[in-house]
Amino acid sequence: MTQKADTKFERAPDRGNHDFKLACDILDAGKICHVGFTLDDQPYVVPMAYARMGEQLLIHGSIASRLVKNLASGLRCCATITHFDGLVYARSSFNSSMNYRSVMVFGIARPITDVDEKRRTIQVLVDHLMPGRRADLRKSTKKELNATSVLALPIETYSSKCRTGPPHDSKSDLNTPVWAGVVPLELSVGDPLDAPDVLPGVIRPDYL
Ligand SMILES: Cc1cc2nc3c(=O)[nH]c(=O)nc-3n(C[C@H](O)[C@H](O)[C@H](O)COP(=O)(O)OP(=O)(O)OC[C@H]3O[C@@H](n4cnc5c(N)ncnc54)[C@H](O)[C@@H]3O)c2cc1C
Repeated sequence: MTQKADTKFERAPDRGNHDFKLACDILDAGKICHVGFTLDDQPYVVPMAYARMGEQLLIHGSIASRLVKNLASGLRCCATITHFDGLVYARSSFNSSMNYRSVMVFGIARPITDVDEKRRTIQVLVDHLMPGRRADLRKSTKKELNATSVLALPIETYSSKCRTGPPHDSKSDLNTPVWAGVVPLELSVGDPLDAPDVLPGVIRPDYL
């Protein structure tokens, strides 16, 4: 039995937090996580979509996926969510930094096998990833549901870390006549690109 993850912050503990509400805010603001696990002494970190459902983090994938098969059989994992909020320009490379919000969730994911629960969790994933879309989608077939695994990772052992604000320069660098500050970064939504086979007369929905 491997040991439970240690979420005690050693470095920059002032940026760390174990508040559930803060973790939820960070999780709800993202759509991509990186899931880490170790197989035969080799670590893998796999990017994938996710959604939060109450106190669980939902991920899904093909039943043939190595990640899904191993996590479903009880392999411990760590899902990390990161928002890159800004580049922090200090007056030295040492003090230059990034503004960010991140969450790490550790544990063992539960495979969702009940068909109704699986359907519900897929709906939660769709609602989070593509808000408004669900009403326009046909019902998933049994075959599609059987080809898909959904895993629920409990948000029980977790930690958040955030950096905000201006650079923290060394006193001795403050007289240097170079610009210092933050360049904020954010994801933006582009103009939708119609699929080449959209039926004539079908208009773009408002939720895009
Ligand atoms: C976008 C981004 C860029 C970063 N760039 C750098 C970089 O270039 N160099 C660098 O050293 N660090 C960087 N960090 C911080 C980095 O994530 C770690 O917090 C830091 O390196 C300390 O790691 P550690 O394993 O020594 O932490 P420790 O304090 O030993 O970690 C102990 C526990 O604290 C928690 N924890 C630690 N870091 C995080 C985190 N980011 N989010 C949630 N929980 C956490 C975990 O539960 C972990 O097990 C960056 C973070 C982000 C989000």
